Amino acid sequence: MLKKKEKIFAYKCVKCLKEFKQNEVEYTCPSCKDEGILDVLYDYEKIKAEFSKEKLALNNDFSLWRYKALLPIDDNTKPFNIQVGFTPLYKSKSLELEYGLKNVYIKDDGRNPSASLKDRASAIAVMDALLNKKDTITCSSTGNAGTSLSLFASIAGLKSVIYVPDNAPKPKLSQLLIYGSTVYGVKGGYKKAFDLSMQMVNEKGFYNRNCAINPLLVEGKKTVALEMAEQLNFEIPDYVIVSAGDGCITSSIYKGFFDLKALNITNKIPKIISVQASGCDAIKKAWENNGKLQDCKPNTLADSIAVAIPRNYIKAINAVNNSGGFFETVTDKEILEAMKLCATKTGVFAEPSAAASFAAFKKLAIASKIEKDASVVITITGNGLKDTESAQKTGLDSYYEI
Ligand SMILES: *Cc1c(COP(=O)(O)O)cnc(C)c1O
Ligand SMILES: [Zn+2]
Repeated sequence: MLKKKEKIFAYKCVKCLKEFKQNEVEYTCPSCKDEGILDVLYDYEKIKAEFSKEKLALNNDFSLWRYKALLPIDDNTKPFNIQVGFTPLYKSKSLELEYGLKNVYIKDDGRNPSASLKDRASAIAVMDALLNKKDTITCSSTGNAGTSLSLFASIAGLKSVIYVPDNAPKPKLSQLLIYGSTVYGVKGGYKKAFDLSMQMVNEKGFYNRNCAINPLLVEGKKTVALEMAEQLNFEIPDYVIVSAGDGCITSSIYKGFFDLKALNITNKIPKIISVQASGCDAIKKAWENNGKLQDCKPNTLADSIAVAIPRNYIKAINAVNNSGGFFETVTDKEILEAMKLCATKTGVFAEPSAAASFAAFKKLAIASKIEKDASVVITITGNGLKDTESAQKTGLDSYYEI
């Protein structure tokens, strides 16, 4: 049983590479400010004593807490009584046949309690807020981070204050309201929402659940990669495809596989294919342009990845480069087609931002950019019921009013 402070030996700034002890920093590097996102460095020697394949095989907690030893929490913290993580990984015969590939898997993370991968981060945020005796948590969100925080804050008895774009899909807004958050619908989109939530962190001392800024949250999200590995019997896939907005999930996929390699449990990291909407592709552009970031004007129906200023772009670019992967973009048309194809071929109903990774898969498979005998995991990050309007666009030609 380790404590959070025993497991983490330092935080490292992704920009200036300076390392900090745990009590030296709160969220970001003091010199690099907003760009000084921190990476959590672990003491793997200590963790080795608590975490192994053999121990996992005996662990009957089928949720993300089975990876507690690799998470920035005290091992003895009592988890919430709600299922987070350990979402299904399906091998898809129909996709393998359709594209002539050997091993295609779908990871359905829409099966989390608030129906997106964001629950993996919010669960950690709320635990850490409790550890730090905070009574209010805030975040800005395109929708899913907020709804997920809303759920965990309410079951933990904490208040949550959430800033979302005023045009967030209605089902996401409904989730925020049913879980009892204070919600601000912000004119001016996610960028303005981000600034407002940061103001609350700085002025009122609210706990900060903005995923890039709070270094612990990528650690929660990495459990999706730990699960992929375990569900594949630690035979690491050749590719993992995932969509990117701020770039946190992309970073977290790398981190999960990195941890397993650092612990000598596996010996490889999959190539990460990080997917953006062609109408909002700031990270891909920065990747092509020597890391220089330019804001974009979001123009896509994939609301969860419509991020004008991606906050975790440096970590995401490092993740993709270190994995030997690449960035890809897909159009809204390709996304809508992918939603339909994913639903009909696999039964998994994805929201547009999640279907973006499926769209990239299809494109790359057809172009033979994924080798026939490669294994590939397509990450479905959020459920389609979160954005019913987009889903309806894909089937109106077979709707008859009588
Ligand atoms: C947040 C989100 C993403 C993008 O995650 P980032 O960490 O911002 O890159 C992708 N898909 C869905 C459904 C999301 O909610
Ligand atoms: Zn720095």
